[in-house]
Amino acid sequence: MRKIENFIAGEYVAAGSGQRFDKRSPLDNRVIASISEAGRPEVDAAVKAARGALNGEWGGLSTEQRVELLYGVANEITRRFDDFVEAEMADTGQPSHVMKHVFIPRGAANFKVFADVVKNVPSESFQMATPDGRGALNYSMRVPKGVVGVICPWNAPFMLMTWKVGPALACGNTVIVKPSEESPQTAALLGEVMNAVGIPRGVYNVVHGFGPDSAGEFLTQHPGVNAITFTGETRTGAAIMKAASEGMRDVSFELGGKNAGIVFADADFDAAVDGIFRSAFLNSGQVCLGTERVYVERPIFERFVQALKVKAEGVKFGRPDDHNANYGPLISQEHRDKVLSYYRKAVEEGATVVTGGGVPQMPGELAEGAWVQPTIWTGLSDNAAVVREEIFGPCCHIRPFDSENEVVALANDNVYGLSTTIWTNDLARAHRMAARVEVGITWINSWFLRDLRTPFGGAKQSGIGREGGVHSLEFYTETRNVCVKL
Ligand code: NAD
Repeated sequence: MRKIENFIAGEYVAAGSGQRFDKRSPLDNRVIASISEAGRPEVDAAVKAARGALNGEWGGLSTEQRVELLYGVANEITRRFDDFVEAEMADTGQPSHVMKHVFIPRGAANFKVFADVVKNVPSESFQMATPDGRGALNYSMRVPKGVVGVICPWNAPFMLMTWKVGPALACGNTVIVKPSEESPQTAALLGEVMNAVGIPRGVYNVVHGFGPDSAGEFLTQHPGVNAITFTGETRTGAAIMKAASEGMRDVSFELGGKNAGIVFADADFDAAVDGIFRSAFLNSGQVCLGTERVYVERPIFERFVQALKVKAEGVKFGRPDDHNANYGPLISQEHRDKVLSYYRKAVEEGATVVTGGGVPQMPGELAEGAWVQPTIWTGLSDNAAVVREEIFGPCCHIRPFDSENEVVALANDNVYGLSTTIWTNDLARAHRMAARVEVGITWINSWFLRDLRTPFGGAKQSGIGREGGVHSLEFYTETRNVCVKL
């Protein structure tokens, strides 16, 4: 069993309280790690270390020097690729191909891409006239926000954490990461990378624990934290926003979703089935951008439901390193209870269960894991809780529609507005739809195709602010204007 400690000022340290908690494998519910739970003293120490680094060596580096160090971080992650894959697989139980081809490479890319952004983005300047005819010159400069609190979820732990740490460090900030209690391992491992590359002590810190009355709350309430970037549930965001209002600290929020997948009859049928299959079921449905509401134009509705059913029934459950398997469990027993409660609710609300709805039979010790079947429903009313609330599991409700106006209204009839995926071969319609669906991210004939330079974030209750490319600079820096009278 692994022991995971907090990472403060370049050292792995256990909490002074001696308090620890267990991490269980989603595969078989075995305890796989013992994690030190940071209390207020450890959070204080991390804030102090982060402030010290800002006022010390790190704060004195040029952009070019920081950029070189971040390239080094990316290269070291790549060198230790197998260790990161192994740690993430242990925490999440997801198949190795997802780790190897998406989540871990994106972690390395997050350092490279934002190093390039800070190196290449110019600042603005304005010349102005003055009554004496000599004029003045304004130019802006970007300075780091300071100590940034980074609070992360468990569904793609390394990718989502580095998506924040990469730009924060590129902009010259220091960070304190509070990974999810369900996925502490890759954040801990990144400390080794930082030390190996020579990132000054205190630039990257990790405190472990839970939210309320634990490391998450202690960090967001700490007056020494200048800004908070958070990915997780909308109601957690509300709690963090309250904490951040004390001291007027800035927040960037990437929150929940109940995203619509929209398929028109003229779409490439097989591509649309593949795309919706991925968007509903990838990572066992634990993707914020996933589509739990699918709307299919009536002429192809029955055929589409049947085709998606066949694919959902074709998944092979198993361990991440089992080459015959391609499907993992949910993150925890607790999350499985939540997802299964929605599976029961769907039936109570009158759904037709097209496939799934329960727990697969797993052999041996895997029977103790957090497995659930990919599930498809039809026939629910638009007001059903299952159609309105984020479940965050491998499931979707499919409903027929008859017109563009109708499907736009259906897609928009939700408190969330994170993303949508629209499948059609009519490009004019695709552009019209993109302008009308109230979301932060629209994919046309694709899903989860990500260029890290583009703005990423949610509308409505799915988030506040945008990260990605230059948009990350807006959050991770203060822009200062300098006015020079000539
Ligand atoms: P969560 O909100 O339960 O937890 C996220 C993090 O917040 C964890 O580290 C947790 O310990 C911490 N936390 C909880 N309460 C806190 C508090 N009061 N103060 C400070 N920290 C606190 O979310 P989760 O279950 O880990 O993740 C799933 C959610 O994340 C889903 O809603 C999903 O849609 C969302 N998500 C959104 C995006 C996006 O980009 N929009 C990406 C991934 C996940």
